[in-house]
Parts: sequence; structure tokens; C-alpha cells
Amino acid sequence: MNRFLMLSALLAAATAADAQPTAGEPGRGFEVERYAVALRPDLATTAVSGVETIVVRGTSDAVTRLAFSPNALHISEATVDGAPVASQSGDDAIVFVLPHVLRKGDEAELRFRFAGTPARGVTAVANGIYSSYFACDWMVCLQDSPGDKADLTLDLFLPAGVESVAVGRAGPKVALPGDLVRHRWRSRQPYSPYLYAFAAGPFARRSVESVAGELVYLDGTGTGADLTALFAQAPAIAGFLADKAGMPFPDRRYAQLLVPGSEAQEAASFSLIGNTELDAERDDPSSAWIVAHEMAHQWWGNLVTCATWRDFWLNEGMATFMVAAWEEHGSGEAAYRQELDIARRKVARARELGYDKPLAWAGKYPSLGVRRAIQYSKGALFLADLRQSLGDAAFWNGVRTYTRRHAGETVTSKDFQNAMEEASGRDLSLMFAEWVYGAPVASDE
Ligand SMILES: [Zn+2]
Repeated sequence: MNRFLMLSALLAAATAADAQPTAGEPGRGFEVERYAVALRPDLATTAVSGVETIVVRGTSDAVTRLAFSPNALHISEATVDGAPVASQSGDDAIVFVLPHVLRKGDEAELRFRFAGTPARGVTAVANGIYSSYFACDWMVCLQDSPGDKADLTLDLFLPAGVESVAVGRAGPKVALPGDLVRHRWRSRQPYSPYLYAFAAGPFARRSVESVAGELVYLDGTGTGADLTALFAQAPAIAGFLADKAGMPFPDRRYAQLLVPGSEAQEAASFSLIGNTELDAERDDPSSAWIVAHEMAHQWWGNLVTCATWRDFWLNEGMATFMVAAWEEHGSGEAAYRQELDIARRKVARARELGYDKPLAWAGKYPSLGVRRAIQYSKGALFLADLRQSLGDAAFWNGVRTYTRRHAGETVTSKDFQNAMEEASGRDLSLMFAEWVYGAPVASDE
């Protein structure tokens, strides 16, 4: 190969390498400061249309594209800082080509229109609509970047006479021509995009005060459910969890939307509560889980969030453990042991399949059930073991320190370990190695 050909080959390889990394990796090279979405959802069909603004900041030099999670929406009229830009929707990402190179620390404002029917995560119900988990299917965002918390302003354009619930707090409603009303919701602190959600419809509404803040109950089933009776335990659970967190509800207010079926999903500032799960709870309060689990996420998951899915157990193990702790508080020690026994059986099944993984593990699981056995059930068992080992005073002090210190932030397992070591004055590295990191523990010591 002569010099010229070699140089050409090198240049071609360099160009290919440069072009590839930003092309299909959502979130690469930048972080989001804030999202603002003006959304008009069709309550009958779940179709949406709207205008979105995303303010980003470069986290590396020479960023030439902004890639976001893929979705089924049609994007049009995209601009960056006012200059028209091209967008491309593929299987791996929605990509906007920047008009100029974005450098580390630089801000850019992306703006575009979108329309379409979300492929996932939006459900029509009782003349209303609710979204669940897949936020980046009804707006453009970063679904799998829990570490990139950002502010959200969500304007919902809705028919007159419907209620809405979304992230943060609602401002005054504004009546518009054509029998439309604008509901403006603003986050009170940054949240991870997978927690962005909204619901709207002719929902019956009740609210009560609790020591943790206002509790709002909404009926999305259209069945005239007795909300106050169904959520009778919620104020006591809120008080219990706020005590364990060492702080009230992050937004001083928490809504629960009752929906048909077995839905159970937390979002920033509210949760979806399936009525079949809640009915089962009413029949057997000592095995109640859904209200406590989803409410626990307001602190563990939403306020203090795993930085990556590798540490998802910090969200789910904690919520699962809090259910057991609440049951112990409300129904006695036998209920605590019963809840932990259920977790033990789930972990045993995962072990039989060869999947007894460390809690902080980023690999693939063969099924949702096996993944949950580790991140939810084994996570809860570790926390119970830690509590047993440290004693109640040090354990709960550690939980409060961890929660307050990292409120509004994202965390790794090490942050939790540090807080528990501080509270107990003990070196917990062996215990964390065994349960969390999966590092081999020397057996001959
Ligand atoms: Zn959960």
C-alpha cells in the first residue's frame, strides 16, 4: 500500500469512527437541562401532537448530533437555536443534526413539532387517558438515562371539565378558544425522564392531609369507586415512610390514580394503582403491597434515583423492603417475616435457573420475573439482613442520611454503602461484596 492509499484508508476509517458514536446512542455527548412540552392528547384515541423544547448542555467536545430514545412519533420543523436542522427517526434513536459543533459546557436549545400515536405506554380509560413508564414514547426524551435528571414543564391542552395529574405542581388553568383548557404542570425539582407521566379525564377526586403532605386520590375507573375507603391506609403509610425517609413527600403532595386492572407504576409526583391489586389489599391488609410500594418510590427511586440501571436495586429493593417494614409496623412481626419469605422463595427460583446475580449487575436476565427476583426480592433481603446486623437505630439512621443527603440526585451502591457505614461506624465492605458487588469473598480468612 503506498503512502497516499494508506492516508486515504486512515481518513476513511477515522471518518467512520467519528460518525458512528453519536449516530445511534441516545444521550451521548450531552445532558438535558430542561424539557418543555406543549401536548394535546386525544383522550379517545391516545394520539398526541405538540411542540417540544429541549435545552441541552454539551458534556464532551465536538458534539455534532443530538440523539434521543426512538419512538413512533413524526418529528417536523426542528430548529436548534433558531436555525432549521434535519432530524432522522430510526430504530435506535431520533437524531437531530446540529447546525454547529457543540462543545463541552455549551448550551443549545432544540425545538420541534411532533405528532402521532405512541407505540407504548399510553392507555385510554373511562373517557380519559394515562401514561405509564414509557415517557419517551409520547414526547422526545432519554428513556434509559436515569442519571440525567432534568426539569419538566408540561402544558396539557384538554377539553373543558376534565382533571389532570402530572409531574410537580399545577398552575392556574387557562381557558382557551374552542372549549380547550391549558393545564400547566411544572416539576419542583429535576426528575429522570422515565418518571415523566400524565393522566387526564373526568376523574372523581378526593384529597386528605397527611403528615407527609397532601394525598390526592383520583378515580380513573369510572366506576364510582369509594376512594376514601379504598385508600384508607394511605395516610398512615405516608406517615410511616416519611419518618423512615426523614423528610415529607418530595413535592409535598402525592396523587394516586386508580385505574382498571393490575397496573402498578410510580411516576414523579403520582402513581398508577390498579384496582384489582387494591381490591386484594382491602381483603388482606397484612399482605398489602401496592400502595406502600409505589408510595415508597416517591423517595427511593424518584427523589434518590439509581444513576444507571445497574443499581436499579436501590430503587426496587428499597421499595420492596419498605412494604415489609410497613407490614411489620401495621400488622406485626409475622407479616414482616411472611413478606421476606415470599422474597426468599423468588430468589430461590432465580437461583435454580442459575441467576443468583449480585445486586449491582448490568447483565441481561432471561425474564422479567428473574430480574425482579434479584433487584426487588434479593434487594429487600439484603436490606433486612443489613437491618438485622446493624440494629434498628443505626440502620434507620443510615437510611435517613442516605435519603436526605442524596435528595434530588442520582446514586450508586457506593453512596448507600457510605451512608450505612457512617451511621453504624462499621466497615461493611465484606457484606456489600457478598450481596451487592459480587466480588469473591476469601473463604480462608
Ligand atoms: Zn417498584
